[in-house]
Amino acid sequence: MSNFLDTPIEYLKGIGPQRGDMLKKELQIFTYYDLLSLYPFRYIDRSKFYKIKEINEELPYVQLKGKIVKTELLGEKQSRRFVAYLKDDTGVIELVWFQGAKWLEGKFKPDTEYIVLGKPSEFRGKYNIPHPDVDLANDDSIKLNSVLMPVYPSTEKLRSRGLDSKGILKLQEVLVPQLTNKVEETLPENIIQQYKLIGKEQAYKQIHFPENVHLLKQAEYRLKFEELFYIQLRLLKSKHFRKQSMQSFVFEKLGYYFNTFFNEHLPFELTNAQKRVIKEIRNDVRTGKQMNRLLQGDVGSGKTIVSLMCMLMALDNNFQACLMAPTEILAQQHFIIISELVKPLGIICALLTGSVKSKARKEILKQLADGTLQIIIGTHALLEDPVQFKNLGFVVIDEQHRFGVAQRARLHNKNVNPPHVLVMSATPIPRTLAMTLYGDLDTSVIDELPPGRKPIQTLHYSDAKRLRLYGFMKEQIKLGRQVYVVYPLIEESEKLDLKNLMEGYDSLSEQFPLPEYRISILHGRMESDAKDFEMQRFVKNQTHIMIATTVIEVGVNVPNASVMVIENAERFGLSQLHQLRGRVGRGADQSYCILMTSYKLSQDAKVRMQTMCRTNDGFEVAEVDLQLRGPGDIEGTQQSGILNLKIADLAKDQQILQLARQVASDILAADPELQQPQHKLLNHQLVRQNKTNINWSKVA
Ligand code: ADP
Ligand code: MG
Repeated sequence: MSNFLDTPIEYLKGIGPQRGDMLKKELQIFTYYDLLSLYPFRYIDRSKFYKIKEINEELPYVQLKGKIVKTELLGEKQSRRFVAYLKDDTGVIELVWFQGAKWLEGKFKPDTEYIVLGKPSEFRGKYNIPHPDVDLANDDSIKLNSVLMPVYPSTEKLRSRGLDSKGILKLQEVLVPQLTNKVEETLPENIIQQYKLIGKEQAYKQIHFPENVHLLKQAEYRLKFEELFYIQLRLLKSKHFRKQSMQSFVFEKLGYYFNTFFNEHLPFELTNAQKRVIKEIRNDVRTGKQMNRLLQGDVGSGKTIVSLMCMLMALDNNFQACLMAPTEILAQQHFIIISELVKPLGIICALLTGSVKSKARKEILKQLADGTLQIIIGTHALLEDPVQFKNLGFVVIDEQHRFGVAQRARLHNKNVNPPHVLVMSATPIPRTLAMTLYGDLDTSVIDELPPGRKPIQTLHYSDAKRLRLYGFMKEQIKLGRQVYVVYPLIEESEKLDLKNLMEGYDSLSEQFPLPEYRISILHGRMESDAKDFEMQRFVKNQTHIMIATTVIEVGVNVPNASVMVIENAERFGLSQLHQLRGRVGRGADQSYCILMTSYKLSQDAKVRMQTMCRTNDGFEVAEVDLQLRGPGDIEGTQQSGILNLKIADLAKDQQILQLARQVASDILAADPELQQPQHKLLNHQLVRQNKTNINWSKVA
């Protein structure tokens, strides 16, 4: 990268130290390069005008043309606002400002055409446009060389300092023209040739100020390809490296533990998918190369038993195994299930979490170090330095997305060679996302549910049907079943959520009085002993209803529970809803998931509820989830978006991603170390990216 792009951002005309600091803080823009990489998230076609009667609040930014027929100051204090009425030949719409009224008064001339740009919203059944841009229709100060006007993400703070989308556009207008001959190419010439990509400099120019739609598409394609290509190159290179050089342990044989368990103690017949996955893992661990495998499978597909049988392979070869879960409750549940299953084999296993008391902990640590303990199950506590194994050979990580790559590395260091690692994902991940998040892992999929499961029926109720819900819960409880009622937990408003939960508890206690009904309650603020106690009461069927926050989201297994009621379901994302639903439908009974929401829902929330009601297939749910959460029309989403991609969209750019992965894979096949002259640049870029602020801990 040339020095020019590394120029500190405050050197750009129009920025200076103060705005520079704001840009750094708010958007992590430190250099020219960073500003250039702040791509428009949309373009407004300045040749297209909407009619006022076409306006609705679902529309993104629109452009209107008309005359201002009246202005007035309305309201008092907080609600004081300046309103201008814009009229075209189809109707009148209000333009509203909550600040700057003084300045606006008298600004608009009568009988003059204006162009208005803004995002429609709705207030009391009427559409208006808050804080629009208003320009004279014959104003030629908008000196774009195209009708496509870029719209940039910004933040509240930046907007208050004049760095809204338009402000950023002005900065780009200063910077982009200076690029000529100052941008180094970042992809090798042969790739550019072969895939007919446009050059980097041209791509920057066209992405910010597209001459036409065709060139804009080419610029997008080039930048997306590059972004995805380097991610794939990095992932595949590290996978390749591991395969070539990371020695791990050879599990030569299947012995007493595996065979006895398989022949005598399996609680059920394995599904074909489970058998296939066990074989895949068996093949990995006999090679002497370290296994890094992602196990995908829908909620309830039976990942636990697969992971146990793999741990038994380790034990048969005199290695220890560990299973790490993201929460205490889940670790505990795994421990209860697994220790029960292996009891007849005489295997010694233990549970290690943050709340194991020091005396017990000491004993566990001692037995791990001297090899007495064969299987250890736990939480993050397993990562701590005092946890030393005699001979750790196999690691299972449940619900991986909660653990970072650094944590994975800490487990690698618990033996002279890194142990084999099996990562289990909690919910299915769409292919494109898996390719990116776990692109350096091999993948196995359990694509079959155990037989005899009745599909869960999912219903969406608005609050008006609450009495019906209570009636239904009573019916189910009479049949001997148990019910979950889950409330959202969102960190920023933990207090409010707790209040919500406690109110729910109060009203349920009225509806479901003692002694006929017994209710458990579980939330994050409780001591872990109390949590245990409540959980156990529910597991043992001593209580009928479990009221909880999402602490029960992952993994909890109570087959007798047949109803999952999710309160404020609109506040949950799809994958979370699917996870929660997966808590029921684990026994032989027909199970139900009831989504409670208020009557009025956003478009997204509607799609989420409909998706849940339509399908039980986790992969389908995940796909819709990705489509919904892809960078949308909301400003700033690209910043918080999946993986912090700057331009590529994993929901939409599947084909580019596949191509990028293929190209990266071909290059590495021919030149694994990237040593050939035409690949020097690739190495250079990888190193460079390492140094910049890309958060690689989120990848892999
Ligand atoms: P998940 O993949 O969500 O972790 P679990 O491993 O918790 O799923 O399995 C869900 C339930 O299905 C458990 O009660 C488990 O005992 C049961 N199960 C797993 N495999 C089978 C099978 N092949 N046949 C019948 N039941 C099974
Ligand atoms: Mg599980």
